[in-house]
Amino acid sequence: MTFTSREWQLTSRPVGEPAPADFALVTAAVPEPGPGQIVVRNTWLSVDPYMRGRMNEGPSYIPQFELGETMTGSAVGVVVASGADGLPLGATVAHFAGWREYALLDAAAAQVLDTALAPAQAYLGVLGTTGLTAYASLKDTAPVREGDVVFVSGAAGAVGSIAGQLAKKLGAAKVIGSAGGPEKARRLVEDYGYDKAVDYRAGDLPGRLAKAAPAGIDVYLDNVGGDHLQAALGAMNLNGRVALIGAISVYNATELPPGPNNLPLAIGKRITLRGMNVGDHFGLVPEYVAQAAGWLKDGSLRADETVVDGIEHTLDAFLSMMRGGNTGKMLVRLAQN
Ligand code: NAP
Repeated sequence: MTFTSREWQLTSRPVGEPAPADFALVTAAVPEPGPGQIVVRNTWLSVDPYMRGRMNEGPSYIPQFELGETMTGSAVGVVVASGADGLPLGATVAHFAGWREYALLDAAAAQVLDTALAPAQAYLGVLGTTGLTAYASLKDTAPVREGDVVFVSGAAGAVGSIAGQLAKKLGAAKVIGSAGGPEKARRLVEDYGYDKAVDYRAGDLPGRLAKAAPAGIDVYLDNVGGDHLQAALGAMNLNGRVALIGAISVYNATELPPGPNNLPLAIGKRITLRGMNVGDHFGLVPEYVAQAAGWLKDGSLRADETVVDGIEHTLDAFLSMMRGGNTGKMLVRLAQN
């Protein structure tokens, strides 16, 4: 059986915010799987902020997207053709050949998922690198200690909505989150266990943060960079720990803004600023997934998704996520599991 796949390609490198004209949805025939290969019908695709960096020319910690080639990213799907022993038709797998309907893969590049533990798409969010980023940041990069005050930016997003809840489970006394707009601020407190919410779009971020954290903050998970990092440095306590996870506020910048102008505060406050890459923490997967699956089952961990339907809307989903159109993990659904 042969398959035809619609796939997203980058056709020109975006300057500033990506535009639809920088991309094309093309149709390609999927080759038959050779020995040791499989064809996967993707059911869910992940769109993530780091993909913006891959649209630029030049190396980052992950290779750039090449012009005129199908883009890649995390996806889950079902094996529909197999030349590989041990990967039968119908198996549900995760892999990195997203942005397309069908993927031809070496079986070794696919990870079989336990869908009894959680639905397949959870492995793109709370049980995948998203949840692991939150967990590893709080366990390793900027370890949270009993009684700490923790601040998380991008708090209503995929990493942030999990991070606040995990911080509480790991002993934080108080968790403060920032997000854009009053509705997200409400959800931080009502849905994601934050004690205080800061709506950064309402202005005066340092003032709002100081009000939410009158005793200062001990741990900061930085998903945003720029103004958020500056405000957090101002509010940090002695020996504070900062996990530099992402800097989404500058991903579309055509010229990098100057760094936080209050960095010398880190000297007197003995602040540790540490970059984190989830790829360094895969050793924590068994420990994290076992715990998180239990918390999902007993209802003590809430993992929301914002779902966009259809391969033709994958780019819209990505652009919307970059502008804050998501709460929880932004996903594209191609088919029900
Ligand atoms: P996400 O938070 O689900 O989505 C991105 C969010 O960024 C949007 O919903 C939007 O929320 C916010 N945002 C956009 N522009 C902003 C701005 N100028 N200022 C403040 N917030 C802005 O994405 P995610 O997948 O969880 O990723 C969050 C961060 O973690 C990103 O920086 C990403 O690169 C990073 N990350 C790093 C690693 C790693 O290994 N280091 C792994 C995963 C993710 P609002 O509506 O609140 O603005």
